[in-house]
Amino acid sequence: MTPIQETANAVSMLFPVALCWLYSQYAVTANMYTFCLTIGTTLHFPASFAYHVYCSCSSDIYTAEVIKKIDISMIYISSIFYAFATSRSISYTIGCLLYTLFAIWFLVQQKGLGIHKMKRAASVGVCVILYTTPIAFLGNTVMYKYVIGSFASASTVYIIRPFGGWSHTVFHILLAVFQYYILCAANI
Ligand SMILES: [Zn+2]
Repeated sequence: MTPIQETANAVSMLFPVALCWLYSQYAVTANMYTFCLTIGTTLHFPASFAYHVYCSCSSDIYTAEVIKKIDISMIYISSIFYAFATSRSISYTIGCLLYTLFAIWFLVQQKGLGIHKMKRAASVGVCVILYTTPIAFLGNTVMYKYVIGSFASASTVYIIRPFGGWSHTVFHILLAVFQYYILCAANI
């Protein structure tokens, strides 16, 4: 990706964060669970922003990998907040926390992130399954379909890259849509 595309990747990560804070501040149905999602999303933002900014101005792959590992670790950590927000269960959240700790330990052991890209994607996918499934189990099947549909759309753009070097920016924007439906699911 070009430096300008990586800069766009960094800036577009503001969309999900801004959406969460606007929702927390102004939605009449905002509650402690939507605030929990806001905290999780905000915690992840600095690492993701730093990774894309770094990639926009440096070709040092080693440092980029270190920042990427921090970025992915923060995705795991934010998933714990998401799991609590969607399940509203302390015991379920603790179960997700145990998985997260294992996933971070596994990530730290990895040498060369490019080689393990599929394993990494799969373990992040497990996190998404863990924090979205409770939406269906709590009976909110309509919102669950929106959540899964929006995540599938974002994932498709991430994998197929239909917009070339701009696909990752579009992926971030679609994540904001996914974020919106998770917020809606958490306030019911
Ligand atoms: Zn990204």
